[in-house]
Amino acid sequence: MEKIIDENKQGNTLVLDAKEDNSKKLYIESYGCAMNFSDSEIVASILADQGYNTTNLLEEADLVLVNTCSIRDKAEQTVRKRLEKYNAVKRINPKMKVGVLGCMAERLKEKFLEEEKIVDLVVGPDAYKEIPNLLKEVEEGRDAVNVILSKEETYGDISPVRLGGNGITAYVSITRGCDNMCTFCVVPFTRGRERSRDPQSILNEINDLAEKGYKEITLLGQNVDSYLWYGGGLKKDFKSASEMQQATATDFAQLLDMAATAHPKMRIRFSTSNPQDMHEEVLHIVAKHDNICNHIHLPVQSGSTRILKEMNRQHTREEYMKLIDRIWEIIPDCSISQDMIIGFPTETEEDHQETLSLMEYVKYGFGYMYKYSERPGTMAARKLEDDVSEETKSRRLTEIVDQQQKHSAIRTAEFLGKTVTVLIEKESKKNKDEWSGRTEHNNVAVFPKKNYNPGDFVKVKITNCTTATLIGEAVGHS
Ligand code: SAM
Repeated sequence: MEKIIDENKQGNTLVLDAKEDNSKKLYIESYGCAMNFSDSEIVASILADQGYNTTNLLEEADLVLVNTCSIRDKAEQTVRKRLEKYNAVKRINPKMKVGVLGCMAERLKEKFLEEEKIVDLVVGPDAYKEIPNLLKEVEEGRDAVNVILSKEETYGDISPVRLGGNGITAYVSITRGCDNMCTFCVVPFTRGRERSRDPQSILNEINDLAEKGYKEITLLGQNVDSYLWYGGGLKKDFKSASEMQQATATDFAQLLDMAATAHPKMRIRFSTSNPQDMHEEVLHIVAKHDNICNHIHLPVQSGSTRILKEMNRQHTREEYMKLIDRIWEIIPDCSISQDMIIGFPTETEEDHQETLSLMEYVKYGFGYMYKYSERPGTMAARKLEDDVSEETKSRRLTEIVDQQQKHSAIRTAEFLGKTVTVLIEKESKKNKDEWSGRTEHNNVAVFPKKNYNPGDFVKVKITNCTTATLIGEAVGHS
């Protein structure tokens, strides 16, 4: 989702309008990627039909759910600390039930019930529809686990309740799982094989959001470019689908085209892309529609072809650079952002310099940069020693972050003197007299409120900026 890990959102408690007839209280906390936040909205929707309203008071909850992330060890440690906190509350309120959802549930399975005695419920990412049955098991005094990964489940038939949102921007999930098998990544093990959601249910969800007044959607998946609907089933089974199914399949470019055509007033983003699956047709669709944002989040992970090969990324440094050139030929003002992993096993000083020089070539608008974290069960953990010292990882990370800061400042300053369209999302955190919103290039912009309102598309003349924020003056509705 964004990419998808928004540090400001980590640990957010989600609260939505209460249903009058519901008397039980659900406290749901989410960590990790946008997909997890989107999944929590699906879980809350399922539980709203079971008599639960959300609360942000842990102490009054009947059911506490934590939607977890396994992507790095640090993410798991954070959740473990939260489980200790829930445990403390549970000692005061023994009737409270605690459940672990998401990637950690999938990775650790029953271990949670055996080792972390405070957990009553363990539910993997494909088993959320089973939560009502699992709760019955718990009420009857049994521990409840369902971590079965599915070939079909996309939750296309569940209308997510939008939790703690701004009523303006929303995520719409289009694929689940991932087939890429990058050697560092735990996602294929925790979220299963890749499958796509029926385009009609995606379009219905966008229609519904438009009717409710939403102005921007982000099409969400671990690897959106790989979207392929041929009537249901796993992406890997497409080859054995019937001729008719293959001939009438919908790919990501077609889905994007359909969504943008059906809703010319809705701003559309997508995340995350993977360079090996990005087809040129998608770039032409982005160029064709004014309402699709000229921004692509294109994780590269390393600038060294040797490391990319060790990571099982299916492209070289040169192929990635060619893709970047092609993006700018087709969408000249496209902003590009990155994910980078620092200190992958065997990474040398020379590999690190190649990452820095690739960054110099692209000058990304922004990026998410992480030290390599070995994940149990992945190919890298099995085959490669985590041999870059913590000290070297930290030093290289600092160099990469400093370089990104420099490039973000350059990219942000390119908008000085220009007029950009901003979708107002909320009041600026720093100044209550200013609105804050984002441009299509995904820059945050702030400006005096005047008579504008959240949800308005406003033309803003940019007069100043910091490294990451545009500062300006509204000059009219867009
Ligand atoms: N579709 C994206 C791609 O192209 O790789 C994957 C999104 S992934 C769920 C989010 C990001 O987490 C990755 O892009 C990567 O930078 C980071 N990540 C994944 N596994 C990691 C690990 N073992 N250590 C450090 N960072 C990791």
